[in-house]
Amino acid sequence: MRRTKWVVVTGGVLSGLGKGVVTSSIGRLIKSQGFSVSPVKIDPYINLDAGTMRPTEHGEVFVTDDGGETDQDLGNYERFLDVSLSKLNNITTGQVYQKVISDERNLKYDGKCVEVIPHIPQEVKRRLKLIGKNSDFVLVEVGGTIGDYQNVLFLEALRTMRLEGEPMVFIHVAYLPIPKNIGEMKTKPAQHSVRALNEQGIQPDFIVARSEQPLDEVRREKLSLFCNVKRNNVISNPDLKSIYEVPIVYEKQNFGELIFNRFGLKYKKGKLVSWANYVNKIPLFRKKLRIGVVGKYFDIGNFVLQDSYISVIEAIKHASWHSKAQAEIIWLNSKEFEKNPLKLSALNNVHGVIVPGGFGKSGTEGKILAIQYLREHNIPFLGLCFGMQLAVVEFARNVCNLKGAHTVEIEPNAKHPVIDILPEQKKLLADNNYGATMRLGSWPATLKKGTKVHSLYKKDLVNERHRHRYEVNPEYIKILEDNGLLFSGQSPDRKLMEFMELPGHIFFIATQAHPEFKSRIMKPAPLFDGFVKACASRL
Ligand code: GLN
Repeated sequence: MRRTKWVVVTGGVLSGLGKGVVTSSIGRLIKSQGFSVSPVKIDPYINLDAGTMRPTEHGEVFVTDDGGETDQDLGNYERFLDVSLSKLNNITTGQVYQKVISDERNLKYDGKCVEVIPHIPQEVKRRLKLIGKNSDFVLVEVGGTIGDYQNVLFLEALRTMRLEGEPMVFIHVAYLPIPKNIGEMKTKPAQHSVRALNEQGIQPDFIVARSEQPLDEVRREKLSLFCNVKRNNVISNPDLKSIYEVPIVYEKQNFGELIFNRFGLKYKKGKLVSWANYVNKIPLFRKKLRIGVVGKYFDIGNFVLQDSYISVIEAIKHASWHSKAQAEIIWLNSKEFEKNPLKLSALNNVHGVIVPGGFGKSGTEGKILAIQYLREHNIPFLGLCFGMQLAVVEFARNVCNLKGAHTVEIEPNAKHPVIDILPEQKKLLADNNYGATMRLGSWPATLKKGTKVHSLYKKDLVNERHRHRYEVNPEYIKILEDNGLLFSGQSPDRKLMEFMELPGHIFFIATQAHPEFKSRIMKPAPLFDGFVKACASRL
């Protein structure tokens, strides 16, 4: 009988170590051996999902086929493992407590006193095992940093799983700083973080040493001795040019084989060759594309946070590499265009522009100005979700001459509500019912033959993921189409406009969906692929 094997990844010293990439890369190694792998992200916050969080707070909200609004790490897992995950693959403290409390109300605890220990860890284990049911391996990434108060109950669940005899391997990812004034890599914070993990009753089997530089033998020895981990089980993970190189760096250190040894499994070498061949060629591509992204979720204090658009960025890279090119992403803050429209001329310095998803008023007029500029100057444009809605607003205002056209999200009393609320969304908003209530997950669309969109997908029926409340108002479709806008894809019942394009333009395509979520390193999303090719044609 198959027995699920568990690989747990924890993080120490600081957040932002790329634990998600570590977990994904280990997953890639395991998958290369022909096993099924299900990754789980544990997020120790009370929110039931990531959907109600600001992107500058927590990064992008990743949407799964089944409509989960999840942590962005699920995006990394999907991209590295080429799988489609479920909302069950993201567990939050809020979900666990909600279930325990509702079970208590339903008398499921038989009159017992329901307590944090053992009932919360028990519910965590129930959820994990549900995921384990259909997989050879489950990869559990514990969010937050060891030593946080917040993830203790999850660690407790994992500790007792090992005690109960589940086959488990613990991998601790720790940061090794190289302070400028001494110029030496320091292991002490990592040692302390392992000690903090020990206090939870967990001894890691492996340490992944994250640092700017590769780990040298002296530090490997120190980590091994003071953290009680075998020398070979200390894995060096320096900063790399591309995250996709991480599995290759691990393979060179036999990381996969060492993990397999712990489970008593045989590891076949050479299974990562096609991945490595593809990734190793990337630095050789000489063509350089400048791709503009017009957004607003960048600034947090004095720092630029690109995490808000991580799937868009990865989709641009995948498509560029497919065209044997490197993309430089130019961040264009739409609020700047509003303050000074002369800045729109910056759009001449890029090969094409993406207007990604978004919510709310700020920066919206700047995005509309940018879209108008791209349309009038024949510069490639790809609009995603909000990007499509604003392209319709722009077209209505400036081509159809519908002054006062807008989306009711921004202007509830718009004279011409060309983007209107989806009928099923009206009541939800009236009740202030915001969480997990948008039109979410995978929805089909039929594409019109002979359109550019159809030629890119090469299919009549496509499924893409969605996350929105508003849509093209059916009452304006005729006037928009009479003026030259082509709706190239619709929901099968023809009620929702899913794709649009402008014939005669070098590339002016937008979609109500988020095709960026399904882009893979060796299988770029068709719209991104077409967009990048149009950009490359201008080199
Ligand atoms: N705010 C818009 C809506 O809710 C677009 C959402 C998005 O871009 N994901 O319809």
